[in-house]
Amino acid sequence: MVQQVSAEDEVVRLCQELIRIDTSNPGDHSGPGERVAAEYVAEKLDEVGVEARILESHPGRANVVARIRGEDSGRDALLLHGHLDVVPAQAEDWARDPFGGELVDGFVWGRGAVDMKDMDAMILAVVRQRLREGRRPPRDVVLAFTADEEAGGKWGAQWLVREHPELFEGCTEAVGEVGGFSLTVPGDRRMYLIETAEKGMAWMNLRARGTAGHGSMVHPDNAVTAVAGAVARLGTHEFPVRLTKSVRAFLERACMAYGVEFDPERPEECLEKIGPLARMIGATLRNTVNPTRLDAGYKTNVIPQEATAQVDGRFLPGHEAEFFAVVDELLGPDVQRDFVHHDHALETDYEGALVAAMEAALTSEDAGALPVPYCLSGGTDAKAFARLGMRCFGFAPLRLPPDLDFSGMFHGVDERVPVDGLRFGVRVLDTFLERS
Ligand SMILES: [Zn+2]
Repeated sequence: MVQQVSAEDEVVRLCQELIRIDTSNPGDHSGPGERVAAEYVAEKLDEVGVEARILESHPGRANVVARIRGEDSGRDALLLHGHLDVVPAQAEDWARDPFGGELVDGFVWGRGAVDMKDMDAMILAVVRQRLREGRRPPRDVVLAFTADEEAGGKWGAQWLVREHPELFEGCTEAVGEVGGFSLTVPGDRRMYLIETAEKGMAWMNLRARGTAGHGSMVHPDNAVTAVAGAVARLGTHEFPVRLTKSVRAFLERACMAYGVEFDPERPEECLEKIGPLARMIGATLRNTVNPTRLDAGYKTNVIPQEATAQVDGRFLPGHEAEFFAVVDELLGPDVQRDFVHHDHALETDYEGALVAAMEAALTSEDAGALPVPYCLSGGTDAKAFARLGMRCFGFAPLRLPPDLDFSGMFHGVDERVPVDGLRFGVRVLDTFLERS
C-alpha cells in the first residue's frame, strides 16, 4: 500500500519531529551530536527507496548523504544541503519548550524551526512525495544533511568535502540555507531574498608581548596597552563602502520596491526602509571587524608579559586582500595576529537556468514575487561545497507574515516558523526541482 500523504501534509510533522531530536552544538563534542537525527533522516529516505549513507566524522557526529537518480543522469547534478545541528537554547528564556516542536497558533516552535530543520523537513517532504508518485527529478540530485554547521562545519560539510568528495561527483550547483524567505514591501508584494554571495571570515587572535614588570614603575613596553590600542583602532575603524555585484543588485531592486531612488553614494538611505533586515544587509556594504574578547594579566600591580584579544573580521567577495592590508596597518608593528578561523568569501552570478527555476517556482506560488539576489553577512556550509567548484545559492523558500522579524529568529529566543510558510516552501521547492 502506497501511503497517500502529501508533502504539504507531512512537512509540519517532519519539522516537529526533527526539532524534538536535540542536536545542540556547543562547538565541541560535548553535545548530543547529530546521530539520532541522521538515523531519522536516513529512515525517512529509506521508506521511499532512497539508500542513504550515514557518515560519522567523530563518534556521534553524523552526516547523511544520498543520491537520487534523475531522468537524465548525464546532466550535471544538483546538491541540496541542510545542516542537522542547531545552536543551544536556554529553555528558561523561551515561551515554549525549545525542543518541544509544539504547534501553536499556526507556528511550529523550537530551536531549528528556521535554522534549519524547516528546510531539512521541506527537502524530505518533497523528495518523499515525488518518489512515492514516481516523479524523478530531471537530473541527479544529491542530498546532504550535515553535522556541525553551527561550529564552522569542521565535522560536517568541510569533513565531507575533504574525506568524501566522490559523493558529490558531478555536482556543479548547490542549494542550501539562508535565502528564499520573503520580505513584505509596499503594495502587498514580497521580495524573496536569494543568497548568491557570502562574506568571508577572519576570526583572529591578536597578541602583544612586552616586558613584565611592577605596576608602579616607568614602563613604556606594556603588552596590555599595545593590544588595547589595536582593539580600539580596529573597533572604531569604518571600512569604505564597496558595492559587490550581489549587494548592488539587491539595493537596486529593493529601492525600486520601496519607490526610492538608488544612490550608490548613499546606499544606507534605501536600507532604512527595510526594517530589522538592515542589520544583516548593512553589514554587506563593507568589510567589518568587531572586537569580541580581551584577555591579559592576573594582578593589578603586575604588568603581564603578554596580552591577547580576539576579533571577528568579515570581508566581502573580492576584497580580502584589501581587508588584511587595512587590518595590518591598524594593528601596527607591536601586535601579531593569527587565525582562529579563516574561510573564503563566495559570490556567484545571479543568472542561468537554476536562477530562472527559482524565480519561476516563486512566481508560480506568489504571482507578485520579487526575487532578489543578496549577500549573506555570515557563513554557511556553502563555503565548503564551493571548494568543489559548485555555484552556491541560499534558497529555502518561505513565505512569511509581514511583521515577523525573520533575521532575529536565527539563533534567537522563541524561534518559530509559520505552518503556511512551510507548506508554501514545499510547493515552491517541488516546482523548483521539476524545473531544475
Ligand atoms: Zn543555519
